[in-house]
Amino acid sequence: MRVILLGPPGAGKGTQARMLSDLAGVPQVASGDLLRAAVQKKTPLGREVADILARGDLVGDETVVKLIEDRLDGPDAARGFILDGFPRSVPQAELLDGMLTRRGIRIDRALAVMVPDGEIVKRISGRRTCRNCQTMYNVALEPPRQPGVCEKCGGELYQREDDSEQTVQHRLDVYNASTKPLLEYYSRAGILSRIDGMGTPTDVEKRMVGALDGLVPKERGGSAR
Ligand code: AMP
Repeated sequence: MRVILLGPPGAGKGTQARMLSDLAGVPQVASGDLLRAAVQKKTPLGREVADILARGDLVGDETVVKLIEDRLDGPDAARGFILDGFPRSVPQAELLDGMLTRRGIRIDRALAVMVPDGEIVKRISGRRTCRNCQTMYNVALEPPRQPGVCEKCGGELYQREDDSEQTVQHRLDVYNASTKPLLEYYSRAGILSRIDGMGTPTDVEKRMVGALDGLVPKERGGSAR
C-alpha cells in the first residue's frame, strides 16, 4: 500500500498516518518529523533547515527529496508506506514520480484531508506534541490525562515553535500557494480522494479506510482484500 496524505497543517494528517500505519503495517514517512529530528540532533542538515522550519517556509525540494528517497529505500518501506507532509509542491510530486518509476512502483491513492481554515488555527494553537513518539494532543479538545506528559510513552509534551498563531497563518498561506495545486495534480492522475477532516479522529479514520477501498483491513487484526 503506497499512499500520500495531503491537506493543510493541522488537518490531522499525522494522527491519521499513525492510525493507518498501525492498521496496514507499513511505515508512516513524515518529512516534517525527519526534518525536526535532524534539527534536534543538530546534524549538518538540521543546522541548514532550522530557521526555515521555525519560519514555516518550505525546505528546498532537492534536500527533502533526498531525505525521502533514503527513507523509502529502508527495508521496512519495501511493502509500502504512508507519506505524510511530502510531496508539498508540484516539483516535489514530479521528482517523487520519477523516483518511483525508477523503482517500478507507483502511488495507489492520494487522500486529501479537508478542514476549514478557522478550524485549523483553533486546532494548532492548542496542539502539543510528544518529544519522544510525536503523538499529538490538544490542550482544549483532547488534553492528556496528566498535563505535559504523553499517555503513550511518558515523554514530554511541547509546543512546536512553528505552531504559534502568526506562523500557522504563514504556513496556511504557503500551503495554499505551493501545496494546494497538488489536489489538481493527483485528481488528474485519477488517484485523489477528498476526505472530510471534521469530527473525531476515529470518524476521519473510517472515511479514510472507506476511500482506500480494500487496500487496508477495516479493523486492526483484520485482513485486506
Ligand atoms: P510538518 O510537520 O509536515 O508540518 O512540517 C514542518 C515543517 O517542515 C514545514 O513547515 C516545512 O518547513 C518543513 N517541511 C516538511 N515537509 C516538507 C516538504 N515536503 N518540503 C519542504 N519543507 C517541508
